[in-house]
Amino acid sequence: MKREKIKDILGRQVAGGGLTAAGWVRSARLSPNVAFIDLTDGSTAGGLQIVLSPETKNFELMERVHTGCSVLVEGELVDSPGKGQKYELQATSLALLGEADPEQYPIQKKKHTMEFLRTKAHLRVRTNTFAAVFRLRSHLSQGIHHFFRNRGFFYVHAPLITTSDCEGAGQMFQVKAPGEQEFFGKPAWLTVSGQLEAELLALGLGEVYTFGPTFRAENSNTPRHLSEFWMVEPEMAFYELSDNMDLAEEFIKSLLSYMLNNDLEDLEFMQRWYRKGLLEQLEKIIERPFERLSYTEATKQLSASGKNFEFPTEWGNDIQTEHERYLSEEKVGGPVIIHDYPAKIKPFYMRLGDDGQTVGAMDVLLPGIGEIIGGSQREERYDVLLARIRKQGLDEAAYQWFLDTRRFGTVPHSGFGLGLERMLLFLSGMANIRDVIPFPRTPGNAEF
Ligand code: ATP
Ligand code: MN
Repeated sequence: MKREKIKDILGRQVAGGGLTAAGWVRSARLSPNVAFIDLTDGSTAGGLQIVLSPETKNFELMERVHTGCSVLVEGELVDSPGKGQKYELQATSLALLGEADPEQYPIQKKKHTMEFLRTKAHLRVRTNTFAAVFRLRSHLSQGIHHFFRNRGFFYVHAPLITTSDCEGAGQMFQVKAPGEQEFFGKPAWLTVSGQLEAELLALGLGEVYTFGPTFRAENSNTPRHLSEFWMVEPEMAFYELSDNMDLAEEFIKSLLSYMLNNDLEDLEFMQRWYRKGLLEQLEKIIERPFERLSYTEATKQLSASGKNFEFPTEWGNDIQTEHERYLSEEKVGGPVIIHDYPAKIKPFYMRLGDDGQTVGAMDVLLPGIGEIIGGSQREERYDVLLARIRKQGLDEAAYQWFLDTRRFGTVPHSGFGLGLERMLLFLSGMANIRDVIPFPRTPGNAEF
């Protein structure tokens, strides 16, 4: 079916010429001598205004054209006399591709709640909001590849089915096949992170990244947690913690610039309806260096804040969401990188500091979101790594392959993980992470 995308039609330099457009009706108005359709095809936030008259072939079909119908229109593109659009399409013929009974079509003009639209995940992409969010999601994904390709990183694929637990904590969905036997000869799970595998690839290719789905069976019913989410995990040989922090900062800034350059229109839409001052906030983040604070300094500032936090702020406790938000929103008013955490609250693979108490971990916090990136310099010393595996009570034999990378040609290396949906929450101004992924999976919910 030959048709022109509405994005291209609206982007034309001059009006004139016959063309065919197709899409879904956002609204339709009919009077005896004239009719209007506001048409979208998903390609852009703007709609194409279509003007029909009794001379239009099949004008009588307008009786059956309502919000949600799909139509194909041929016509002449002319300058629009009306306000709000540059061009309009004067229809010479109309075809009704798919009807939508106005009594039954669930997406009405009135404003629906996000919760209601989640129950219509198969139709919510027809709304202006969700179409914008999913276009942003596509651009963001491409921006990620763009960043790493420009820096010579290789895109590698970590397995989704794994037999080792990256975090050393039970947050994994088990993978089972019918029957009694272990399908893989031993227990297997869905991955919580591709990091360990990415490390092996980095220790041969130099600079790599994975970008794919990860799974967490944690019962976190928060607006920032999903059971299935997408994570970007760069892993770099010959990077120390400060190099890792530099890369994380450049990465975030580059993604924001990419979005401003490639999908300004949808950002403007989100700013208008969901987050005042969004564009200015993005620009400020791009311009200024990120604040860097050691964990020790951060806990001092938290204790001195005079705030009545729910969780303790003494050295040795984990930094909770409420602390993250205080630091990035109130104390600093921008992104913050916290580094060098107590070893006992972090996984075994992070590099032990000279003090024997801290590890080379770093988290990047964003205002309104909290943790967007978690990363570390990895423990590259065989003996130290082995001791930490033992100390954490992990099965040494299961990690032989990982230890081997430290037995043969080990090098200092680092990496981090960024959650795609958290970044999209930040960019879109949406309030709930379930509204930035097409088909959200959360405890108790895996519809569609
Ligand atoms: P949090 O403390 O917020 O649960 P985490 O410490 O478990 O995060 P990491 O294991 O470091 O997070 O994962 C790296 C990144 O993946 C996080 O910084 C975040 O952006 C994202 N992320 C982690 N868990 C989830 C989740 N359940 N849903 C969506 N994104 C997540
Ligand atoms: Mn978590």
